[in-house]
Amino acid sequence: MAANVSLAGKTALVTGGSQGIGAAIAKGLAAAGAHVAVAARNAGKAQGVAAEIAAAGGSAEAVSLDVSDPASVTAAFKGLVERQGKIDVVVNNAGITEDGLILRMSKEAWDKVVATDLTGVFLVSQEAVKTMMRKKVAGRIVNITSVVGLMGNAGQTNYSAAKAGVLGFTMALAREVGSRGITVNAVAPGYIETAMTDRLTPEQRMALVGQIVLGRLGTPEDVAGAVVFLASEAASYVTGTCLNVSGGLFIG
Ligand code: NDP
Repeated sequence: MAANVSLAGKTALVTGGSQGIGAAIAKGLAAAGAHVAVAARNAGKAQGVAAEIAAAGGSAEAVSLDVSDPASVTAAFKGLVERQGKIDVVVNNAGITEDGLILRMSKEAWDKVVATDLTGVFLVSQEAVKTMMRKKVAGRIVNITSVVGLMGNAGQTNYSAAKAGVLGFTMALAREVGSRGITVNAVAPGYIETAMTDRLTPEQRMALVGQIVLGRLGTPEDVAGAVVFLASEAASYVTGTCLNVSGGLFIG
């Protein structure tokens, strides 16, 4: 029997959906049939992605959302539930970096990354669980972490700690909400071709590729495929796990 990855009739919300990996995830979920709320602080940019989805025959809307601001998160969920009736899939993808070696890292840089990359996941997931339970939806929460949360990276103590925190959060929440039919999983991308990796010099890029078993950086679509799977019926018996999408940069 073929795996069922159709998301027809589902409503999905993707944080940080206005560019990079989040935009590919939004497009992937829409291509699988979901109505997608593309959420970001810059709603104009999110609107651009929603328009691209609509032009390709999908269904989408832009939502203004700052994951680090509880009031903004509550308002975004309230509005989306009023418009769509329910939310089935929530992808915690919004993330930032503020790199620096430990001796030079300001508390501000630490707090900023933790507020978005870890506390943001908590705030959004709390609203997601509330609405999924209230509407008795067999919901799906997918958290985008990173291989650096599994293996660390010099110059990224704040980001690595936040992303490792997301893994612990994913496992704990999966145990809390499984009895309600809600699954919670993580996806850990390796190095993906985005604005974040555009800054690499050709030498840095070559050194990186040398560490990747599959011999190339990943694409946003590589990550989107894993998210669509975890959001779909095909993954209904998968919860509390982390799918590592790193081309073998991390194996374990
Ligand atoms: P980008 O920097 O390209 O995009 C980040 C997105 O997040 C934007 O849409 C941005 O929109 C949004 N965002 C940032 N802060 C907030 C906030 N406070 N509230 C809501 N939205 C916010 O990131 P990538 O596509 O590269 O990365 C996406 C995710 O994947 C991140 O979690 C990242 O850590 C992770 N990742 C990326 C890798 C890579 O190689 N690129 C590797 C491993 C993991 P706006 O500014 O308008 O809010």
